[in-house]
Amino acid sequence: MARVTLDTLRKEFDRGTIVAVDDLDLEIEDGEFVTVVGPSGCGKTTTLRMVAGLEEPTSGTVSFDDEDVTEVHAKERPVAMVFQNYALYPHKTVRQNMAFGLKMSTDMAKEERHERVREMAEMMGIEDLLDDKPDELSGGQKQRVALGRAIAREPEVFLFDEPLSNLDAKLRTEMRAEIQKLQKEFGVTAMYVTHDQEEAMTMGDRLAILNDGKLQQVGAPTEVYQNPVNEFVAGFIGSPSMNFLDVDVETDGTSATIRDESSGLTITLSREYVAGHDLESGPYTLGIRPENIDVVEEPTGEETLAATVEVVEPIGSDNYVHLDVNEDFLARSPPDVQPEAGDEVGVVFDESDLHLFDAETGEDVF
Ligand code: ATP
Repeated sequence: MARVTLDTLRKEFDRGTIVAVDDLDLEIEDGEFVTVVGPSGCGKTTTLRMVAGLEEPTSGTVSFDDEDVTEVHAKERPVAMVFQNYALYPHKTVRQNMAFGLKMSTDMAKEERHERVREMAEMMGIEDLLDDKPDELSGGQKQRVALGRAIAREPEVFLFDEPLSNLDAKLRTEMRAEIQKLQKEFGVTAMYVTHDQEEAMTMGDRLAILNDGKLQQVGAPTEVYQNPVNEFVAGFIGSPSMNFLDVDVETDGTSATIRDESSGLTITLSREYVAGHDLESGPYTLGIRPENIDVVEEPTGEETLAATVEVVEPIGSDNYVHLDVNEDFLARSPPDVQPEAGDEVGVVFDESDLHLFDAETGEDVF
């Protein structure tokens, strides 16, 4: 299989007025599953298309192992791509759809092709559908056919462009597991594009997070979740999203206080904490995840701040408690914490759960 290396890869459109991919450096190890995630328009699909050879880079290179394939035609690259809309030929049967990919990309004899199609169909659990046309299939079945067709070609690199977006939630969860199983079974290198952070968290060995064509962070899902490098990543990864507050930090190097006048928040950081972090006085954005907030139904006044409950949304396992601290401020509480709208509650943050971002650049400070 192949290691995929993107070196200062760039794609401009409309004579440079649109920079879709901005000097991207990324290495995907042989057999690794990397999920590329980011909001709509951040350059994910364009990146994938450059790896596939469907889009010519403005500058930079794509290499498979040590071979620069930037100039190599899409058909000559050892890749298979799976799309959101399945890209099946409507007038061909499942069998013909799967065999056609092999015919175009290999010089396999007809009998061998059909044997391979049968094997793949069996593996994907679609052998009963081989004589059906795509419009007789459900979305999940179509995606299985598209996956089977892609795998039958024995690619070195598997490229996925939001393949599960058209499926319902239950089927999506099922197919996520199936895709990962297939990828590991075949040991194929995979690049998977999605705008869905939850999908990205559950699927990749590593995530690459893009924004505005620029790579923000690459890392294992838990590493990115725990140590986001900036406010964008912190807000994008994790569901529900991290809460943010504009705060002022005052410190003399041995003690430090974080304050937000509008919400009445005051946090006096411990001396050990201050000693372990290189903190300066000034404005910051404080980040705290909903799951790291304790809601105290009978406040003593000793809490980090006081707030009024706006709405409580039970989600079964937990309650989402919306608070009037600022817009969209949310605590994720265990089901036994059940305040009602209008209740005055206390809100507690533990200092070890705090994130502070530079107020101007959004870079993570600690
Ligand atoms: P989505 O999740 O919505 O598909 P994306 O992250 O995949 O978005 P791209 O489709 O790669 O983003 O697009 C990145 C940027 O490049 C966008 O601003 C898009 O409008 C622009 N773009 C993409 N293809 C072209 C094109 N052929 N001509 C002009 N601009 C383009």
